[in-house]
Amino acid sequence: MPQQPPSTLQAAALDLAAHGLPVLPLSRGKRPFGNCTACTGNACGGRPNIKHAGACHCPHVCHAWAAATTDPHVLTSRPWQAAWQRAAHLAYNPAGAGLTVVDLDHADAVAWARATLPATRAVPTTRGEHWIYRGAMRSVNGVRDGVDIKSTMAYARWLGPGTGTMTALPDVVRALAVKEPAAVRRGPLAVTVPAQGGECRHRTPVFLERGIAMAEQRITEARSAIHATTYRTFLAVLSAHGRCGCLTDAHVARLFAAAQTKGESARHCTEAWNNARTALGM
Ligand SMILES: [Zn+2]
Ligand SMILES: [Zn+2]
Repeated sequence: MPQQPPSTLQAAALDLAAHGLPVLPLSRGKRPFGNCTACTGNACGGRPNIKHAGACHCPHVCHAWAAATTDPHVLTSRPWQAAWQRAAHLAYNPAGAGLTVVDLDHADAVAWARATLPATRAVPTTRGEHWIYRGAMRSVNGVRDGVDIKSTMAYARWLGPGTGTMTALPDVVRALAVKEPAAVRRGPLAVTVPAQGGECRHRTPVFLERGIAMAEQRITEARSAIHATTYRTFLAVLSAHGRCGCLTDAHVARLFAAAQTKGESARHCTEAWNNARTALGM
């Protein structure tokens, strides 16, 4: 893909941001820019994200994927302006727009996807393709040879809108992120663990699954006061499962995705999540 001049990159970034895609610039090496001095080693506390409250309000393009934003004021700010001048590529945080990118690195991976995964929107990459599904999940690199899942807490290069109709994130893709051995080993012990001291009686997967499904449904069926419903639902899920270690990124991503289909911004989801954690003293 030919490199674009900075002004074109920034214009493209603003256009994508206006469509709800949180974007960030990448260097010539196709990597996010490094942290500024104040943010080195996360001394600043890091950006707020779905797992950590974070205290960083750095105006620079720090903290990789977490810098991605839809805010035109940030995208045109002086520090970001400087970054666009040096940038060679554009990237986005897929989960921030309620999306998952299955990054297929080479022809064999593409062939596997065509034989295994439901068709969806596809974007050609240097040697492979990005398959983009509607719905967010946990990001995992190397789920098989040449296949990465990029969604929460990750970035994917923007290489154009692609072709094909975007379809809902299928279970077969969600299943790729499941770490089987650990789950199997822990399984038989889980049901006997009492609900105290950070342990959880609902570690039986079916209870947690039902809880998350109900939470998704509650958000999806809300007809009004979606802000309040989102917050109350996050609060309920966190108070039930927030301390026991049951909640995975994939669960959180599902709740965020449900709220985003109701028009909530990724930023409000993060705020609501952090506010709920704070309310519970977490
Ligand atoms: Zn910084
Ligand atoms: Zn920082």
